[in-house]
Amino acid sequence: MLEIASVKKSFGNVVVLDGVDLTIKPGEVVSILGSSGSGKSTLIRCINGLEKLNGGRISVDGFDVSKPKELGEARKRSGTVFQLFNLYPHMTVLGNITIAPIEVLKRSRAEAEKEARELLASVGLSERADAYPGQLSGGQRQRVGICRALAMKPSYLLLDEVTSALDPEMTAEVLAILEKLAATGTTMVFVTHEVEFARRISDRIVFLEKGKLLVDLPTEEFFHAEGGMAQPRVAQFLSKMR
Ligand code: ADP
Ligand code: MG
Repeated sequence: MLEIASVKKSFGNVVVLDGVDLTIKPGEVVSILGSSGSGKSTLIRCINGLEKLNGGRISVDGFDVSKPKELGEARKRSGTVFQLFNLYPHMTVLGNITIAPIEVLKRSRAEAEKEARELLASVGLSERADAYPGQLSGGQRQRVGICRALAMKPSYLLLDEVTSALDPEMTAEVLAILEKLAATGTTMVFVTHEVEFARRISDRIVFLEKGKLLVDLPTEEFFHAEGGMAQPRVAQFLSKMR
């Protein structure tokens, strides 16, 4: 399980996460919605150990991200794809996907490349293994980013607004991949503004508001008038998104 308990995070005197509790079980798809600035990316960065917590605890399959000796194991289990393309520009697509399995998991190059090619085939990019990120479209880069995360065989795939920098056509091609992953049982934590898509693929939806988890409900209840929609902030957010 991915367990987030009473997590607090501040930057200076600005409180960004104010006691967040969230548990993700294997096989679940959970979407995180919330206005810009509500703390979604900070939460993802905390799960990854990229930000130090000011309080509370995050553990990934029992490994505590705040303990230096456990962070490596925690990180291996939470593969992350960010909003902005974060591929290594000087490495080929194949190099980007295989570097962590080779360096961190100590896989042989041959084995890592074989798996990388299988992943690329699954996202329709078999032909681009030797291309550099700069030669790819935004949608192709994000699909490579997803392959790079999956190459580590993470228990949890964290996706932070992976389509928000893409045009509608590229967004559709990336969402199609995510829908396939969700259907095949990949555990996902999905930060998004794609409300309709989140509704289609999620088991649960949580709503973050000013660093607090205002709502955590099964998807259909979230959209129900007496469920999530009973929260004025949620209703307001959803009306702006549609
Ligand atoms: P979201 O992803 O929901 O848009 P963020 O987690 O990016 O929100 O940001 C939440 C708040 O934290 C914002 O007010 C943002 O300005 C602030 N913040 C995020 N990162 C930093 C940082 N490194 N230093 C200072 N403030 C930050
Ligand atoms: Mg963000």
